[in-house]
Amino acid sequence: MRKKIIAGNWKMNKTPAQAAAFAKEMAAKADNASVDVVFCVPYTAISTAINAVAGTNVAIGAQNMHFEESGAYTGEIAPGMLTEIGVKYVIIGHSERRAYFGETDCDVNKKLKVALAHGLIPIVCVGESLTQRQLGITIEHVRIQVKAAFDGISAADATKAVIAYEPIWAIGTGVTATSAQAEEACAAVRQVVGEIYDAQTAEAIRIQYGGSVTADNAAELFNQSNIDGGLVGGASIKDDFDRIVNYKR
Ligand code: PEP
Repeated sequence: MRKKIIAGNWKMNKTPAQAAAFAKEMAAKADNASVDVVFCVPYTAISTAINAVAGTNVAIGAQNMHFEESGAYTGEIAPGMLTEIGVKYVIIGHSERRAYFGETDCDVNKKLKVALAHGLIPIVCVGESLTQRQLGITIEHVRIQVKAAFDGISAADATKAVIAYEPIWAIGTGVTATSAQAEEACAAVRQVVGEIYDAQTAEAIRIQYGGSVTADNAAELFNQSNIDGGLVGGASIKDDFDRIVNYKR
């Protein structure tokens, strides 16, 4: 039985002090041991957020990292810098990173390998554009992204990762995929994991849905058989994020 995982992607929101206050308040309401709860906060807020959630079941994640261990990469953050301060999760290949910062499938693959080598739990994002959906190539596109991301990664490592299926047209738009659309794509992701590895790995890996999840639609989405929780952007910094974590099963 896969444990659900609900992660908030705070994006470029909240100063360290604001993050500490919100993380503390939200962790008190969203401390649900039956779900893995993660707040992916800005780099500068990681330490204060970690202190704020201490003693709860909430873990702190980063929203990105570089694939090199150190070096001349101005403005970047290395995996070891994250683990040393207590980061447990890292989002990799978010569509905003792909669209605005030129991240490629190859970068995603390198980051995934390095994250796993450092014991970070990667949340690997895949998903189609509106044009790709309209062209009927959603599943094909998502399959290619998953294959590229997991190239050269062992089955044992793959099961530690989380995949977030996030249709780009649903991110931050208020247009949520229907539960049928989300389930179809998450099932396809699980199928391709089974083809790359085996049925056991496919059964074990956790697959989230992301894209305009709200407190009102979370339960229907997360109760689909191939959806193991969500990656939540805008609604994760709202006062009722706890309603998403404590969705009705
Ligand atoms: C996201 O940024 O990963 C996301 C899903 O955003 P939103 O929930 O705001 O659509």
